[in-house]
Amino acid sequence: MGSIIRETRPFFTGLLAESWALAAQTPKPTALGTMLRYSGANGCGRRMGYDWFDALYTEPPTPASVFQAGVGTLVGEAAANAMIAKYGGEAEKPSKVNDWISGSADWFGEDTPVGRVVFEHKMKSSYAFNKAMGYKRNGGKASRVGNGNPPPEAVKQVGMNALGIEATYGKPINSVVVGVVSTEIVSVMQNVWLKVEDFSRYGAEWSIPRDVWEPMALREIDRLMAFGEMMDLGYLPPRLAVGDGDVTVELDPHGTAWQCNYCPFRSLCHSDGDGTVRVLDSKMEHRTTNEPTEMES
Ligand code: SF4
Repeated sequence: MGSIIRETRPFFTGLLAESWALAAQTPKPTALGTMLRYSGANGCGRRMGYDWFDALYTEPPTPASVFQAGVGTLVGEAAANAMIAKYGGEAEKPSKVNDWISGSADWFGEDTPVGRVVFEHKMKSSYAFNKAMGYKRNGGKASRVGNGNPPPEAVKQVGMNALGIEATYGKPINSVVVGVVSTEIVSVMQNVWLKVEDFSRYGAEWSIPRDVWEPMALREIDRLMAFGEMMDLGYLPPRLAVGDGDVTVELDPHGTAWQCNYCPFRSLCHSDGDGTVRVLDSKMEHRTTNEPTEMES
């Protein structure tokens, strides 16, 4: 009898993620050609600089590192199609809040049971889903440890989308919606403990009022603009991001922060050193354009 072989270099099963990793070697441009994007909400300023100046990745994405995001994109596209089938509207609606920051709303609909809606879709790991829902899950057991909240970066992102769409749309968009689905549902056994309704086993939806999302979006626009101004002068912004509790955190490329663990510029960032760095002094290799001239430095 022959032996079963587990392929660590698969012929078939890895093809999809390999194609996603190949596509991810080239960064996506911003929606409307701006320096910054809504999806940078809460993100690292230094990384935004590397993206804008077209730095070559020093840690290029691998199939494993893009797999979850790829699945999330597929599910997000399918979710937008389901919303279009039910309510009409538009997926991937681009907009900009000013000449520096743009992005695309996952879905924008005008004729829904809650009126005009800008929708942001996120697929989260079970860890992040638990955090958003206030669940604690461990094997077949689960409990509630809080009420949970929508991911703050998603609220800022959808808020910026709403402000950007409003700028050309001409009518107010007062309610924005964040939808989150989990990569791992609450199992039947876990739900014996949790006792949540069917939807809350795999998803959550938050309608967020304007007096909540607008100040968050405006604060984030100010933060991104401060990075943009440094980049415009030919500098890489500092390694600052926003962490839990909406507090500014200073990142360390040798630390354990998730932002750095997922960053494709980690060793470049380390060799460029701390603080605000001149692009002309950076060790980066450029892909193509956006390199500052001596005049700009
Ligand atoms: S390694 Fe960390 S600090 Fe450096 S650019 Fe990436 S996310 Fe920012």
